[in-house]
Amino acid sequence: MRRFFIPAFIATSIAFFPAITSAKSTETGTAVSGKTTQVFCTQPCKIPILMYHYISDINRKTTKEGRTLSVTPKVFAGQLDALKMNGYTAIRFADLLSGATLPSKPIILTFDDGYLDAAENALPALLLRQMVGTFFIISGKIGRNGYMTLNDIRLLTDNGMEIGAHTVNHPDLRKLTPQKQRFDIGESAAYLRKILNVPVKVFAYPSGMYKPLTPSIVHSEEMPFAVSTHVGIATQASNPLILPRIRMNNSMHGGMLVKYLEKMMK
Ligand SMILES: [Zn+2]
Repeated sequence: MRRFFIPAFIATSIAFFPAITSAKSTETGTAVSGKTTQVFCTQPCKIPILMYHYISDINRKTTKEGRTLSVTPKVFAGQLDALKMNGYTAIRFADLLSGATLPSKPIILTFDDGYLDAAENALPALLLRQMVGTFFIISGKIGRNGYMTLNDIRLLTDNGMEIGAHTVNHPDLRKLTPQKQRFDIGESAAYLRKILNVPVKVFAYPSGMYKPLTPSIVHSEEMPFAVSTHVGIATQASNPLILPRIRMNNSMHGGMLVKYLEKMMK
């Protein structure tokens, strides 16, 4: 496992971000609010953020969990084609910071965990259609069996894909002290920035789990955006540190996806 020393000023920097004013717990122990002075988008927007895990074929060896987290390359291609045909333009979180005018139907495609098939299957499908995606990397699992190597991840960044942090070890952040949360969140972002020489502006909570304090820790580690597993469409009113997503599965073919999005965005 690769670890870097975290300077004391980063460890204490959370105290300098008083903008996050409130957060309350739900029955699942996660925060549902936490208003910040920053906004998700500076112009009125409705942006679906799709959540993928594996882009891989499903066979008899695929576990039950793997099945629920997998979209086959064929279904994935159909989803991308349907999005393109219906006028959606894939953007990255960084595009929201640039001040550039958004396309008329923006969408963000996210891929969690850094599995090997992100480079083998997701990347070629995206490039074929001149689309971009955001890939959340667990820094301590880079190069492990089933996960992308550093060279695989560099292939993503070299081709315009965005990298987000997803902790060092994918812990349940609700079970960690603030100090340990800060380590797992800050360390993963710092390592990715250093080794890939790219900005890391977005974070994904492992399994969507976080405590009321967690979003402010993400913000203090210089990530203005974080995605959850709450279901919904991100809008100008969304808390940028608790953004909703739409979980993708293999039974949602392209036409169905487009109809679902239209319904969600009404
Ligand atoms: Zn994950």
